[in-house]
Amino acid sequence: MFTVHLGLDDTDSKKGMCTTYLANLLVREILSEGCEFIDYPNLIRLNPAIPWKTRGNGAIALRFKCHDPERIFQLACKLLKENSHFMLGANPCLVLLEGSFIPYNLRKLAEEALYKVINFKRAKRLAEELNLRVYTLRKGHGLIGAISALGNTLQGDHTYELMVYRKKEFFGKERRVDKLSVKLMDKETYPLTFNNYDYEKERVLITPRSPDPVLLGIRGENPKILLKAFQLLKIEEEWDSYIIYRTNQGTNAHLKNHLDLSQLKAYTSGFVRGRLISNPRKIEGGHVLFEIKNEEGGILCAVYEPTGSLNKIASKLLKGDEVELGGSVRKNTVRYPKTLNVEYIKIIKLARLVRVQNPLCDTCNRRMKSLGKNQGFGCEKCKLRKFSRLEEELERDLKPGLYLPPPRAHRHLTKPLQRYNKRKLNQEFKLESWYFFREPIRKLFMK
Ligand code: ATP
Repeated sequence: MFTVHLGLDDTDSKKGMCTTYLANLLVREILSEGCEFIDYPNLIRLNPAIPWKTRGNGAIALRFKCHDPERIFQLACKLLKENSHFMLGANPCLVLLEGSFIPYNLRKLAEEALYKVINFKRAKRLAEELNLRVYTLRKGHGLIGAISALGNTLQGDHTYELMVYRKKEFFGKERRVDKLSVKLMDKETYPLTFNNYDYEKERVLITPRSPDPVLLGIRGENPKILLKAFQLLKIEEEWDSYIIYRTNQGTNAHLKNHLDLSQLKAYTSGFVRGRLISNPRKIEGGHVLFEIKNEEGGILCAVYEPTGSLNKIASKLLKGDEVELGGSVRKNTVRYPKTLNVEYIKIIKLARLVRVQNPLCDTCNRRMKSLGKNQGFGCEKCKLRKFSRLEEELERDLKPGLYLPPPRAHRHLTKPLQRYNKRKLNQEFKLESWYFFREPIRKLFMK
């Protein structure tokens, strides 16, 4: 058998579909051809700052062994053509790499695609160099995502997502998942699952709000806990299938890059350290803005109102505070220069908050009056004179440490608080119960 890697991206539009749904169809086709998967389907989230993404900038890689790579590729192309939204603006692409070795250049491009903009020509050149089988529709911009997914084998930190797909008759309709059961599941499986529920707004987070075919997605540390969590849910509509993906979600994979303030490019993600050179200010809409600076340069930072508690923390910062910020760089506009859209704030050192006042009279304890420039201060009653002001250090309403927004404002890649300071080892691979299709696979694809 041959080892192959099939990458896929840009299949959907805002009107519906989802690249993982096409992955679902492909998995059925591949299994029904008697192929053997060597990894869970990989769901790779790429740089979230890419403005031309549809939603979560996700791409898929399927890794398996098969007898006839060409036949599989042709079947996959047919499925892509029949099911992608290329007539509604999508630019789909499928790529196939043969062999178990993932070339260095491919790994490198995949790594860069997590935090910067990849040039389409570079991706095309690489696909040619590596002799990949490529199939594109319309402009085929999905090539960038598709080969980035191929090149990212999720070495190191990773998580899993169990995605449940809807029956066609429910597409676009309200998702019927019992809220209370989601809360119970969350409590029962914490800390091994994450971002199930937002307790502040009493909002279910496992169901998407777009009209795509996904009923729900449970995110967590291993497939076993996801299956347990799934069983704890009360689902009030008949669903079609589920797939467990291995993914870089919840790992901060896009924020590993150090942002150099002397040569900052728009749509780049990463982290930066610096000192506030202005006190934060609130603008229309409740967003908080402040500037930071370090040896390399400076940047305007924005902590948007929907980030809830993070926005409140940002408003308490002061000029002189030393911080590390994670986020993505937004393009300059007519009103604002390039801006860092802040996703987390790590307060390293707080500046002293000092209240400066006129001194008190030692005899009558009254506040002394200024006697004019360089003349010092005098007590009106006792006529006592002093020459320096009184400095009083006030307590800051803030502590050093890491601050994140509430789960509802997380990006797919945002690492939740409960995952910090935990090392994930590459687990022994056991592909069990990672998919379920209501209709038998063979029957579905009987030709
Ligand atoms: P969904 O998550 O709903 O499947 P999406 O948000 O992934 O959709 P796509 O429709 O796949 O959005 O569009 C993303 C586009 O951006 C693709 O064409 C992809 O190739 C491209 N892209 C992804 N990452 C980068 C990057 N780092 N640099 C340049 N282009 C990128």
